[in-house]
Amino acid sequence: MFKALVITKPEAGYRCDLTELDEAQLPAEGDVTVRIDYSTVNYKDGLALTGKAPVVRSFPMVPGIDFAGTVTHSAHPKWNTGDRVLLNGYGVGEGHWGGLAQMARVKGDWLVALPAGLSARDAMSLGTAGYTAMLCVLALQRHWAAAGTAPGSGEVLVTGAGGGVGGVAISLLAGLGHTVVASTGRPQEADYLKSLGAASVIHRDELNAAGKPLQKERWIGVVDSVGSHTLANACASTRYGGAIAACGLAQGMDLPASVAPFILRGITLYGIDSVMAPMAQREAAWSALDRTLDRAQLAAITQEIGLQDAIAAGADILAGRVRGRLVVNVNA
Ligand code: NDP
Repeated sequence: MFKALVITKPEAGYRCDLTELDEAQLPAEGDVTVRIDYSTVNYKDGLALTGKAPVVRSFPMVPGIDFAGTVTHSAHPKWNTGDRVLLNGYGVGEGHWGGLAQMARVKGDWLVALPAGLSARDAMSLGTAGYTAMLCVLALQRHWAAAGTAPGSGEVLVTGAGGGVGGVAISLLAGLGHTVVASTGRPQEADYLKSLGAASVIHRDELNAAGKPLQKERWIGVVDSVGSHTLANACASTRYGGAIAACGLAQGMDLPASVAPFILRGITLYGIDSVMAPMAQREAAWSALDRTLDRAQLAAITQEIGLQDAIAAGADILAGRVRGRLVVNVNA
């Protein structure tokens, strides 16, 4: 038997409960069984845990879009019992039982070897949010390398700075020598954001309403986890030849922008998807996180909670009440 959160949708309404399951109940689709050590609560997990958006596609569902743990059984040629692995996305926690549990059975093709320098707890302190932040940073780095833009030659904007993607992005960019401007709706967190490496902090109100199609050129690059007017304004204020990595929709899924900054300033908008990203990109991102991430800053970004606590944390993350990252000790 193992503990798991299980989402059901009876007539009385959508609900999530902590339950005991039998290993025999794990999904038949999957050739690797994993004993999970840690999982996490990302924004998308918040949507699944609360039912605020139709993220979960079949019921009953074990939520959790990522996990880290140890292989206990494998019929996949790449994995053996005892291997330390992590998983992000691939519809796990949405259409296939996920990581907010003590056990999972998944396809071996979805697993990534835990980098040598990261513990399972480190990996889930980063989680999909941290891995996505690295995908954004890698996209910007490739762009800057091609354009000959050096770190420190201009400001880089990080929106949704108080959240998970934002916090990791600040730490990574500052560690690479960039001058990071953090945009947040929580100015009381300015000291925290500066401790991660932000050179300055602006209020998100400066970005979240309709703005002019072309604004003062400011950013050499942007990591945006917010979307909507914020992303439109970020594009409008990106410097000639600069780039934006867009990964999120915390403000909204719309993009009320104009083509002006694209056709008059040659800016580039990179779309970042973590869920179906090719394996080579995942491995590159995790390996880069292992090489470059400041572990003390990761500790400052992270709070640990237990499996039962993850239910309430789903509502908290959607309400913007979570600072940084939540790592879930599924055995606590
Ligand atoms: P968090 O909830 O941790 O962070 C989101 C942050 O966005 C909040 O902390 C808040 O920051 C800011 N925010 C919230 N509401 C608004 C609003 N109405 N207007 C402006 N800013 C707002 O989520 P994550 O960091 O885990 O994820 C961020 C986004 O990225 C989500 O939309 C998520 O779905 C998406 N995402 C996408 C992935 C992909 O594969 N493309 C993978 C991972 C995440 P503050 O309080 O500082 O203002």
